Amino acid sequence: MQVVSHEILDTEAIRRDFPVLHQKVSGRDLVYFDNAATTQKPKAVIDALTGYYEGYNANIHRGIHHLAEKATGAFEATRIAIQRFLNAAHVEEIIFTYGTTDGINLVAQTYGRKFLGEGDEIIISTMEHHSNIVPWQMLCEERGCVLKVIPVDDNGDLILEEYEKLLTDRTRFVSVVYVSNALGTINPVKTIIDKAHAVGAKVLIDGAQATSHLDIDVQALDPDFFVFSAHKLYGPTGMGALYGKREVLEAMPPWRGGGEMIKEVTFEKTTYNDLPYKFEAGTPNIADVIATQYALEYVDTLGKKNIAAHENQLLAYATDALSSIDGLRLVGTAKEKISVVSFVMDGIHHQDIGVILDQQGIAVRTGHHCTQPLMRRFGIAGTTRASFAVYNTTEEIDRLVQGLHRVKKMML
Ligand code: PMP
Repeated sequence: MQVVSHEILDTEAIRRDFPVLHQKVSGRDLVYFDNAATTQKPKAVIDALTGYYEGYNANIHRGIHHLAEKATGAFEATRIAIQRFLNAAHVEEIIFTYGTTDGINLVAQTYGRKFLGEGDEIIISTMEHHSNIVPWQMLCEERGCVLKVIPVDDNGDLILEEYEKLLTDRTRFVSVVYVSNALGTINPVKTIIDKAHAVGAKVLIDGAQATSHLDIDVQALDPDFFVFSAHKLYGPTGMGALYGKREVLEAMPPWRGGGEMIKEVTFEKTTYNDLPYKFEAGTPNIADVIATQYALEYVDTLGKKNIAAHENQLLAYATDALSSIDGLRLVGTAKEKISVVSFVMDGIHHQDIGVILDQQGIAVRTGHHCTQPLMRRFGIAGTTRASFAVYNTTEEIDRLVQGLHRVKKMML
């Protein structure tokens, strides 16, 4: 890995770190524009996975032998790396999860079931991923809470005046996405958090799409919970983290029961472990947890600001280039965006667009992006989405534009 100079990344060198990018699909060089679904993994992450399995595979924590101690040390090093990455005050505020979905379910099923009841109001937004809708609906069904939804405007911005109107003395919880996976909108989460706290509500921020693009400081932002997935951050799948304020996590009951989350078990009564282990029952994803610290290190070495500068260039270039295609309409034109372009084309189904692009070696995502209510808001069934990462180039965007002209030729 090599950084050439301040704020300018050497994309060619970066691309060499990602083995998967160097292949042909349908006879053409692969263009990977499905980064909002999952990013590719640098060699350092892949090597960390094989390094663990080849060198020190062992179960963690209770072992006293050499391999177990080595694995435990590497496993816990990731917790410290995530604490630093999020600027959390305490390392025990970092709970390993299987990802964003798992983290939200944990909070809904523990904090929610203990503290939210009949008539209590939970606020989410129209642009939530299904993983930040369904767990709250399930809770509302069980506990009789009321779900309220912040609307979005035609650009794909949350309507903050409407949010303020939704806040009442019954608002107990606000759960919103930092960055929309379908539109790219960056939400003003600091304002959202402060306003929720002013009425005494707790706040969860879904950071799935934020962590690879924006600096995250949970002490400055001040959410009660922050969740993300490693696989959208150049790390492995099946691994993520929940940050929670220590006093809030301490007040919550455990969720999954089993090994590791206990202090003492008798048939009469079980006492639970301290944070963070109280929420980590069973043998975790050890290799993936360990490999995650290499993903964070990778991002840190490149520098989030450099990554953001590169991606913003790609976003501007793509927005310009796509806008010049007749019959193409961008969905999601907020001022504050990450590098996601979602669009529809007159008379052509998004699935056909995806298939024809794939035939040219270009990987995009098509469909509702797990945001069906948002698609409904825009009166569409789905979009075609190209999402850019640190290894993408403007030449690849040119390939996308040529590909879309070909789609038009074939379909119209
Ligand atoms: N929230 C957002 C905004 C997302 O983009 C995603 C993944 N597409 C999720 C939540 C769910 O993440 P995971 O599938 O890794 O749990």
